[in-house]
Amino acid sequence: MATKAPVPDAWGSGEGAAANSLMRESMPFTSTCPTCAAQQLQHGFSPAALQRLLQDGHPIEAYCVMCDRFWPVGMRERVDLAKALAANEDLAGPVDETIPFTSVCPKCFEEQPQQRYSGTALRSLLKGDHAIEAYCVKCDAFWDISPRERSVLAKTFSPAPTDE
Ligand SMILES: [Zn+2]
Ligand SMILES: [Zn+2]
Repeated sequence: MATKAPVPDAWGSGEGAAANSLMRESMPFTSTCPTCAAQQLQHGFSPAALQRLLQDGHPIEAYCVMCDRFWPVGMRERVDLAKALAANEDLAGPVDETIPFTSVCPKCFEEQPQQRYSGTALRSLLKGDHAIEAYCVKCDAFWDISPRERSVLAKTFSPAPTDE
């Protein structure tokens, strides 16, 4: 499962692909394109992939859509990236994983996957009886999940998780 440079096609021009890539765990950063000297946003790498490349001293390939070229990010940018990764780890430690769940959108009545909450956040929201907001990408709408969905969620927490 070697992670090579991402296929530029995926982020080329399609706007529909953008929403999709947001769902995946990626760590966006900017790198200066040596051809046009513009700061280009890079979002084809996951934090884990970046960490590995940094640790092993492998080049991290950045891409410029405008110039259609790849280049290895500079030493300075690597240092910045390492710092950002360290900060990122504080925010979302390995114990605090995102717990995906679904909630029915009141507008389109479809089950919408929710992946914005960590287990810790959900647990405290459930415990404190606070509203848990869900979001539908299609309708661009927020709503509070229903009591029934809350109890389903609470159940996923109570028994010892068997899936490892
Ligand atoms: Zn460029
Ligand atoms: Zn909807």
